[in-house]
Amino acid sequence: MSDGIRVRFAPSPTGHLHVGGARTALYNWLYARKTGGAFILRIEDTDAARSSEESVRGILEGLRWLGLDWDEGPDVGGPHAPYFQSERRELYQAEAARLVAEGGAYPCFCAPEAVEAIREAERAAGRDPNYDGRCGRIPPGEAARRVAAGEPHVIRFRSPDEGETLLFDVIRGKMAFRNELLEDFVLVKGDGLPTYNFAVVVDDDAMGITHVIRGDDHISNSPRHVLLYQALGYKLPKFAHLPMILGADKTRLSKRHGATSVQEFEKQGILPAGMMNYLALLGWSLDGKTELFTPRKLVEAFSLKRVGSNPSVFDPDKLAWLSGEHFTRLSDDEKAAGIHAFLTGQGLALPPLDAIRPRLAALVGLMGKRIKSWPEAAERLGHFFRERPDYDPEAVAEHLGGEAAGRLADLAGRLAGVAPWEAGAIEAALRERAEAMGIEAAALIHPLRVAVTGRSVSPDIFSVCELLGSDLTRARLTGRGWEG
Ligand code: GLU
Repeated sequence: MSDGIRVRFAPSPTGHLHVGGARTALYNWLYARKTGGAFILRIEDTDAARSSEESVRGILEGLRWLGLDWDEGPDVGGPHAPYFQSERRELYQAEAARLVAEGGAYPCFCAPEAVEAIREAERAAGRDPNYDGRCGRIPPGEAARRVAAGEPHVIRFRSPDEGETLLFDVIRGKMAFRNELLEDFVLVKGDGLPTYNFAVVVDDDAMGITHVIRGDDHISNSPRHVLLYQALGYKLPKFAHLPMILGADKTRLSKRHGATSVQEFEKQGILPAGMMNYLALLGWSLDGKTELFTPRKLVEAFSLKRVGSNPSVFDPDKLAWLSGEHFTRLSDDEKAAGIHAFLTGQGLALPPLDAIRPRLAALVGLMGKRIKSWPEAAERLGHFFRERPDYDPEAVAEHLGGEAAGRLADLAGRLAGVAPWEAGAIEAALRERAEAMGIEAAALIHPLRVAVTGRSVSPDIFSVCELLGSDLTRARLTGRGWEG
C-alpha cells in the first residue's frame, strides 16, 4: 500500500445518503483507489435518538449502488473493528479519563440550566455566550471524589484562552482560528456517550487515518479537532475540506431543491456511472473541460490538488445528460439486464432474465442511440411484456379512428399467412394489403404502430412485430385494446 494512505467516510446514520455525503464518500474512495491506499467506512451513530438501522442500510446500499467498496467497515470488518461508534464507547471513555488525569479535560458538574444561566450572564456582560470554565477550577482531588460519589457530570475539554490554532488544509491552505472564541467544549455527555468532536478524533487516530476529507460544513469544528490531537498526543492527519454544494438559487443544497438522495436518483433511472461521473465534477476537474469519465478513468485522473474551494451548483439536467452519455455506451447485453431489472422494479412480472436475454438484447438493439435512460427504454419496451400496451390517447385519437380498426383486422388476416415471421415478409404483406385497399402504406403503418406499441413513435415497427411474434401481433390488431 503506497504511502500507507488511509481515508474514511464517516456518515451519521440519521437519514438518506444525500448528494453531499455521496460526493464526500466518492472523493475519499477515489483518493484511496488512486493512491493504492485504504478506504474505511465508519458509522458515527453516537446520537442514539437520531440514528437508525434503516438509515445505515440505506447508506450502505447507496454506496454500493454508486459502485463504491470499502476495505474496512461494516459487513467487511477489518483490523480496527468495530466500525460503529456506538460499539466503541470504552475507547472514548479511556481516552477521556487519560485526558482528565493529564489535566487536558475536567468533569463539569453544572446542570444544563446552570450552563444556560452562565451563557446568559456572559452575553449580558457583552462577551461571547460561552461556558466560563468554572468547573475547571475545582481541585482535581475534589472533582475525582464527586465523580466517584456518582454526581452527574460531563467531561469538558480545557481549551486554551489565548493564541491561535492553525489548520493546514490541502484545498484551502492555512487557516487560523482564535482560541478565545472556543469554549471548553463537551467531550463526553452526561449519558457517557462521546460528542462528535471527541469520537471523530479518537477514531481517526485509532484507525490510522492519514487524510480527513470531508465537507466544509466541518471547518468550524476543525480547530477543536486540532487542539484535541495536540492534547491527546496524536499525530495530525492532513485535512481537505470539500466545497459546498448549492442549489440553483445558490443556497446550500437541500430537500427544497428537489431530489437530493442517491436512492431518489436511482429510482429516476440515473445510471450509477453517470451519478459517479457527475458527483466527481462537483468540486473537481481534470482540466476544466473534460466531462465524461468512466469510473476507471476517474480513478486514474483524480487528485486532491485539482479540487477547488468554490461552491458548485447542483444541476439535475447535467446529471441526466451525463447519465444518458453513459447509457449509450452500454452494450446491448448490459442494457438488456438493466431494462429487465428496471421493468421488474416497476412491478411487471417478467420471465427470468436468462430466459429472455437474447430477445431483450435484440429489442434493445432496435432502440438505437436515441434512448438514454431506463425510464425511456421502459416506455419503449414495456408494452412487450404487458398483456396489452398502455395506449397513448393522443396517438389513438390520431391514428386509430375511422376505418383504421377494420383495416387492421384485414391486415391481421393477411399476416396469419406470413411464414417465416420476419420483418421483411411482414412489411411486404402490409404493402400488398395497402395497395389492394388503394391507400398509402403509411396509412396502414401508423395505425399498426399504435395498435401494437400504444405509441406513435417506436423502433422499426416490422422488427418490433417480428420480435413480438405473430400471435401477439395479430391479437393486438384485432383485440381493439385501445378502445378501453
Ligand atoms: N459524521 C459526520 C457527518 O456525518 C462526518 C464527520 C467527519 O467526516 O469528520 O457529518
